[in-house]
Amino acid sequence: MLVPAADYLTYAEAVALYNDLRAVDIVALVKSAGPPTFPYGEGMYYQLWIEETEAAAARETVEAFEAERVSVRVLRCPKCGTPDPPISAHPAWWKRLFYAGTVLHKCPNCGAEFSA
Ligand SMILES: [Zn+2]
Repeated sequence: MLVPAADYLTYAEAVALYNDLRAVDIVALVKSAGPPTFPYGEGMYYQLWIEETEAAAARETVEAFEAERVSVRVLRCPKCGTPDPPISAHPAWWKRLFYAGTVLHKCPNCGAEFSA
């Protein structure tokens, strides 16, 4: 049975963790998840799934990766964790005023708006 090893990865993160796991002889399955960006397109983020029997062996690699991942500054939605939310295209005038000097992002997953 497959179990999720990591969630909310960007494509680059998924590839990096996949390679880390390959180095310790664990073959992970990469799945895209979240709402599609286009009707038949890729998901918004990626998940890595591994065999349940290999979960214990993979844990150290995944934990090391997670620790490194938080040190790499990827912008994430503060509400749901979706990585790389796009810049809000047409914020209302009062939001432009309120967030002047910052960039307003809108989460494609939960709709939260936040400045960064
Ligand atoms: Zn969100």
